[in-house]
Amino acid sequence: MKTYMCPVCGYDGLEEEAYDNNFNPSYEICSCCRFEYGYSEDHNVDLGYIVIPNEMREAAFQLYRKQWIEEGAEVGHPEYYPKEFQEKGKVKQEMLIKQLKRLDLPLDNFTFLDYDS
Ligand SMILES: [Zn+2]
Repeated sequence: MKTYMCPVCGYDGLEEEAYDNNFNPSYEICSCCRFEYGYSEDHNVDLGYIVIPNEMREAAFQLYRKQWIEEGAEVGHPEYYPKEFQEKGKVKQEMLIKQLKRLDLPLDNFTFLDYDS
C-alpha cells in the first residue's frame, strides 16, 4: 500500500496525501503527531487567525511541531503507530530524528526533553 508523509512530523504512514495540489486537506489524523490536516492548523496552534491562509500553513506546521516535540513527542495513536518506534508512549528519539530529517529540518532548532535521562 502506498503511504504518504506527514508534513508536520515526517511520519511516512498516511493513507492519503495531507493536502492535494489545491490545498484541500484530507482531514486524516496523523497517528504519530496527531495533527489533523484541515483542522489542527486552525485549532491547535495560535497564530492569530480564525482560518489560516494557505501561505501561513507552513508556519502552523512549525509551531505545532515545536509544541509537540517540546511536550515530549507523544505518540498520537499508539495502536496505529509502529510499536518498534515507540517507547513509553513516545516516539523513540532515533525515530523522531529520522522523521525530522525526512522533512529536511535543521535539528538544532529543537529541544528534546528528558529522553534517556
Ligand atoms: Zn505527523
